[in-house]
Amino acid sequence: MKSLDIFAADKLAPLVEQGLKREITVTDRWAAGQARRAGRPLLSFCCNDYLDFTHHPKVKQAAKDAIDRYGAGAGASRLITGNHPLIAELERRLAALKGTEDACLFSSGYLANIGIIPTLVSKDDVIFLDELSHACLRAGSSLAASTTYTFRHNDLNHLQELIFKNRKNHPRALIVTDGVFSMDGDLAPLDQLAQLARETDCWLMTDDAHGIGVIGAGRGSRHAFDPPPAIPLQMGTLSKGIGSFGGYLCASKPVIDLMKTRARSLIYTTALPPASVAAALAALDIIETDPVYCQRPLQNAKHFTDSLGLPAPESPIVPIIIGPTDKTMRHAKSLEENGFLVTGIRPPTVSVGTARLRFTFSAAHKEREINALTDSIRRLGIV
Ligand code: PMP
Repeated sequence: MKSLDIFAADKLAPLVEQGLKREITVTDRWAAGQARRAGRPLLSFCCNDYLDFTHHPKVKQAAKDAIDRYGAGAGASRLITGNHPLIAELERRLAALKGTEDACLFSSGYLANIGIIPTLVSKDDVIFLDELSHACLRAGSSLAASTTYTFRHNDLNHLQELIFKNRKNHPRALIVTDGVFSMDGDLAPLDQLAQLARETDCWLMTDDAHGIGVIGAGRGSRHAFDPPPAIPLQMGTLSKGIGSFGGYLCASKPVIDLMKTRARSLIYTTALPPASVAAALAALDIIETDPVYCQRPLQNAKHFTDSLGLPAPESPIVPIIIGPTDKTMRHAKSLEENGFLVTGIRPPTVSVGTARLRFTFSAAHKEREINALTDSIRRLGIV
């Protein structure tokens, strides 16, 4: 057998050659739009902290108070030490916001998806997954070991075809999609998906990680539709629009009871720290009372696309597809040299030939900052 170090170096070598080795650079952040790398101040357009809650005084104070009252960590899994009182309160608030009977917290969005899917479906069952679904939905589907069919992105006809051909061979079927697609920023046609799921006896699960706080007056992508479609499995994360950390599932009481009894990534991992839960509660207070503030990230994204003559955004995520990885990374570097932090997204996060600059907008961005960014993009010949 090769030594471990040689194995790792050999595995990395082709990735280095293709420009796909990743570096995690030290970056100081003190507000959604502000960052510093190697002592240089940068305007950040790559953070998912859409509402600038990670630095909101009320959110930070709630986290500090929770540490003082309940301590820095949860101590163990919820099934061992029990919930600290904030967890039950947050579950109740999330269920109310999402219009479901109950909710269940996980320790991250990733852990939620790899726990939820295998708890609901297994090897005899079938999953229909949008091809652009987030990596952790794919990971959850792999863990479930169900037969998985990938349908073309947001293509209802393709999904219908796959369901008609394959649904009958399996006792249970689950359709899985992002609500807001994380690398493209578009919304799933949730109204039509909900109808198709109903008509074809499939369960529907959405990952609305990028919807809560910013779409549908803050209530998530389901509320971008009138009337909001019925979605029995609404997953999300507290790490983006909520500005904290953690994942959740909003669903009926029997489904949530099953999760708490069977979802391995809930049972066998330590509960969220009290500070994270308290921060999320404080963020929800603001979301529920200030729907106008929740619209700002999307308005800022629209200002950006209008300035560059790009199609109107559906969410605060705006990709500019460049294509080749090396060119994308060069553009990201040039933008950084011009004072803007914008991430180049490359394979395998996106498919080969679709590397892109991914811009995310927050309520904290000022119009003049966005104008400075669009000036730079034009000057560098990116658009
Ligand atoms: N789903 C989607 C669509 C995401 O973008 C992410 C985060 N990148 C996750 C799930 C995972 O959430 P978390 O960061 O809370 O693990």
